[in-house]
Amino acid sequence: ALTIGIVGLPNVGKSTLFNALTNNQVLAANYPFATIEPNVGVVSLPDPRLEVLAGIFHSERILPASVSFVDIAGIVRGASEGEGLGNQFLANIREADAIAEVVRGFEDSDVVHVDGAINPASDLETINTELILADLQTLERAIPRFEKEIKGKKLGPEVLEAATAAQKILDGGTTLSAAKFDSTPIRELGLLTAKPFIYVFNVDEAVLTDPAKKAELAALVAPAEAVFLDAKIESELSDLDPADAAELLASTGQDESGLNQLARIGFATLGLQTYLTAGPKESRAWTIGKGWTAPQAAGVIHTDFQKGFIKAEIIGFDDLVATGSIAEARAKGKARMEGKDYVMQDGDVVEFRFNN
Ligand code: GDP
Repeated sequence: ALTIGIVGLPNVGKSTLFNALTNNQVLAANYPFATIEPNVGVVSLPDPRLEVLAGIFHSERILPASVSFVDIAGIVRGASEGEGLGNQFLANIREADAIAEVVRGFEDSDVVHVDGAINPASDLETINTELILADLQTLERAIPRFEKEIKGKKLGPEVLEAATAAQKILDGGTTLSAAKFDSTPIRELGLLTAKPFIYVFNVDEAVLTDPAKKAELAALVAPAEAVFLDAKIESELSDLDPADAAELLASTGQDESGLNQLARIGFATLGLQTYLTAGPKESRAWTIGKGWTAPQAAGVIHTDFQKGFIKAEIIGFDDLVATGSIAEARAKGKARMEGKDYVMQDGDVVEFRFNN
């Protein structure tokens, strides 16, 4: 499943946000270094289409796609040198598919800022520097090993070429993703700055309702995506029933919770989409990459579906809703039989035909 690691300076609201994600009580203490152990929280990707399908098919349950969030310790200046909880933090996010960096934008004199003042631009700079230094360390350790393995013909020269190219970019102070560096040959290193980043500005209500201020913050991280939320409100939302939650959201000028935005933007950042299956047992969303073919998509349900793939019967979600049933969609020519070269489209409602 898709995993997103959460990083940020201490006291920026990572634990508070994570509480909201899992609706569990993770320790959210008001002092630096409060979050030590990594935890995983799974959140559903909101998809109103599933409710509609469940209505049409009288499904017993709904299974949305999900995004896993990994809570990790805060990073501090000097983290790459092993100060604070740095090294532990770094080991935990290497595995993540993407990184959500929480940046503090809220003012609260009761909550200490590690550097003494709220300054999103300087906080972004601090984290960037630490991540770059961490990647440089990883490369310094890996390069002698690569050289040895290339001599022993266990590795191709392209691995070393990629490693030294990455080193050069990082030495110049640029992250690998900003340099659009293709890290495929050295993927096993899990270089942090090669991962896609989403920036989460934890702000108060005044900022949430101030488009100019939000644009100013978003510009600090563009072209990466920025999500604006109030971690405290998010954790309150997770305790409320849907009607009350909608009311609280509306009172802060939003129509979608920050967590929903984060799941949605995480999906988009990683080039993911969903297709749908529906029946009396369940209406379900399945996660695939953009551009995947029908057999690849079938493989997400079961490898046998991919191996024995014959064809896929596909009805677009809107066509299914308009016709009201599979039978009616077929009668109206809205159900298509697609073969193994078909490229899946977001919102395809699918039934696979396969050989065992
Ligand atoms: P972490 O160290 O990044 O995990 O930060 P925490 O989630 O533990 O938050 C540190 C402190 O800031 C806690 O006392 C939180 O209640 C508080 N806090 C977190 N988010 C917000 C927010 O959006 N507004 C305000 N005023 N306080 C917050």
